Amino acid sequence: MALIKPTVEQCVIYNRTSSDEQRQEGYSIEYQESSNRAYAVGKGFIVNKVYNCSESAKEPGRKVFNEMLGHVKKNKNIKHIIFKKTDRSCRNEVDAANIIHLALKTDLNFHFVEDGMVLNKDSKPFEFTIFNMNCSMASMYPRNLSIDVKNGYKQKAAEGHYPQKAVYGYKGEKVGKKSYLKIDETKAPLIKRAFNLYATGLYSYKTLAKKLREEGFVKSPTQPVLKSTVEHILNNPIYMGDFIFKGEYYENAKHEAIVSRELFRQVQNIINKNNKPKQYKHNFLFTGLIKCEHCGCAYVGEHKIKKFKNGTQKEYIYYRCTGNKGGKCAKTKKYTNENKIEAEFIDILKRLVIPDEYCTKVREAIRFELENAHASNMERIAQIEKETKTLRERLKKLLIMRAQDEIDALTYKEQRQEWQERLQELAEINEELSKNSDDILNTSEIMLELTQNLAGWYIEQNTDKKREIINIVCSNLSCNEQNTHYELRSVFKCVLDFNKNKNGRTDRI
Ligand SMILES: [Zn+2]
Repeated sequence: MALIKPTVEQCVIYNRTSSDEQRQEGYSIEYQESSNRAYAVGKGFIVNKVYNCSESAKEPGRKVFNEMLGHVKKNKNIKHIIFKKTDRSCRNEVDAANIIHLALKTDLNFHFVEDGMVLNKDSKPFEFTIFNMNCSMASMYPRNLSIDVKNGYKQKAAEGHYPQKAVYGYKGEKVGKKSYLKIDETKAPLIKRAFNLYATGLYSYKTLAKKLREEGFVKSPTQPVLKSTVEHILNNPIYMGDFIFKGEYYENAKHEAIVSRELFRQVQNIINKNNKPKQYKHNFLFTGLIKCEHCGCAYVGEHKIKKFKNGTQKEYIYYRCTGNKGGKCAKTKKYTNENKIEAEFIDILKRLVIPDEYCTKVREAIRFELENAHASNMERIAQIEKETKTLRERLKKLLIMRAQDEIDALTYKEQRQEWQERLQELAEINEELSKNSDDILNTSEIMLELTQNLAGWYIEQNTDKKREIINIVCSNLSCNEQNTHYELRSVFKCVLDFNKNKNGRTDRI
């Protein structure tokens, strides 16, 4: 190390920190200043000025650094510049070259306290080399840091793990240094309930938030369930086992889903419908919902004014086949009254109502059905378990064979991979077989909630809401000039069948 002449001389102190380092221990401006001052006192220097720089050092020509050099050049009494470490002085090649130039060509001494190094014109060549190396490492540091962090997150995401802080309903579970999502059993019920209720189509974000509050749900002891809470929950695919990170969609993540995919999509369909801009000036109830039984074309609605003999008139909405595909229907002018079509739908809704006392029976019936289905699945599950066991034993044997050098590394690796993939596949099938019954139970619960006073509730809704209900209950509507035919979705068919048996009569749809 170069010698410093033992005289009372002046110095400046240069402290630098970037915004993300400020929080780290040993990097704060305050810490640097106090330890640099202590160093100056120890050397017998008078501190002429302290420069604090909080900007990023990634770009050369930093303002404060240049200001400091300018000040030093102007004040010939200042002989020393004190830095805590090399990486505090520079993080780019330009600054480093500048320091070396000044150290060699002037009387300035550059102190790097923690590195135990002073650079001046008496420094040995190897000391400049060390300084240069330190600087290039320092200049790599900010770039590496950001690349590491980004790559680390991206890598984790690519491996199927959500790389950020756990969202509501999950908690981070530490495994080694990494953290993985795990269902937070105290919070998951709110998520499930929100999805199940919204899937009925009876709620908006706002009314659902209210309903959840009424049911006693809270986001946390201090946070109530708000419209925004509900909106965030219902639109986050993380709850069905996917996630979005940095604008990219990651499917089939490793964390456990809180709701089924089917339920999530059902909710999304309703959200899309609720937020769809109105396409028609006259928002006819059945526009786009009914197909012609003769030609398959869509039925369209029209306003018709009927004049009565006494001079009064009344407006009606009629539907007719567009006849776009030509043929007989192209010439047809047969109209069907909207009231008539709707009355038929309301009649169906009335027949879908299950009296309270039967709900329990329906639940029992569904469970019974599921158990039957489960029994038939049992055989498949038993097969899977048997195969799984065999594979695990084979893997053990394989490992022993490899340990005793009976097989080579490549054979071992390939065989092991094949069997492990099969194990994974079996685990997935197994999960699918046991998950199915949960989905059916969910759907049946939604159905049961819907069927309480369905018709009365339907009549009170506006056109948009009514269209939605028609869509939930029916999958296809078709018309001929006499009748409308509704094809009920399977869950509602079950209700109808149930009511038929209960009443001992047969209703025709
Ligand atoms: Zn037609």
